[in-house]
Amino acid sequence: MSYISRVFDKRAAPILALVFVLLAIAGRKRQLRKRVQQQDERLIVNGLVAVPAFGLLRFAFLPAMVNLASRNKRFGAANIVKFPPVIRTICVFLILDYGNYLWHVMNHKIPILWRFHLVHHTDLDLDTLTAVRFHFGEMIGSVFFRGLFVLLAGASPIEVLWYELIFEGATQFHHSNLKMPYQFEKNLSKVVVTPRIHGIHHSINKHETDSNYSVIFSFWDRLHSTFRFYDNSSITIGVPSYRDKHEMTPAYLLRMPFKRIRGWEHHSTEE
Ligand SMILES: [Zn+2]
Repeated sequence: MSYISRVFDKRAAPILALVFVLLAIAGRKRQLRKRVQQQDERLIVNGLVAVPAFGLLRFAFLPAMVNLASRNKRFGAANIVKFPPVIRTICVFLILDYGNYLWHVMNHKIPILWRFHLVHHTDLDLDTLTAVRFHFGEMIGSVFFRGLFVLLAGASPIEVLWYELIFEGATQFHHSNLKMPYQFEKNLSKVVVTPRIHGIHHSINKHETDSNYSVIFSFWDRLHSTFRFYDNSSITIGVPSYRDKHEMTPAYLLRMPFKRIRGWEHHSTEE
């Protein structure tokens, strides 16, 4: 679709690539959490897992969302209430972002969705490379739920694409290993999801993983009493039952949702 190519490929993708590189460099210079794995190994594993997910994002998810938005002229908040343009876009972004909060909660609470989201949580380190480690099945599932929120918001195609740019940039930022001054980050965390907030969500402690589901704006977690914030530079990242990096090859991770999966603390192999 030429529209996506013009807006996303030519403008958004280079910005996202730059954000990725800058956050990776900044996260190395000012490291929040100690790493437990070699970066070149993670680059290969997470990069290979990301390939089908990114293909689906670009060639299925984005066209589906843009198509839906361009056909929908009557349904959703922005089509029913005539807001001034800036207010309209803010409302659309808030509705889309709330949809992503709910979608993330569902990924943790609904067993079939957790099978796919688990692949993302089994990374033993947390940084911008984790931000690309998503199973393609999660992308397929998100088309339906996130599509529903595109309709509920009454989003236009351009709003869908710009929200996606901010969504992807925010995902890179909150997964990054960038250490910011504690008080500065604490203040920032009142509005947006920061690396320390999302670090708690990737903790091996289940009660901590069951918190901080927001993607861009952090206030959805405050609204639902799922918000936690503390200095987590010594936190252990991952899922207790999946801690063997030799086991988690790209092929294993791509097959993972289709096999019997382990409980959170279960250590014996069930496959
Ligand atoms: Zn999660």
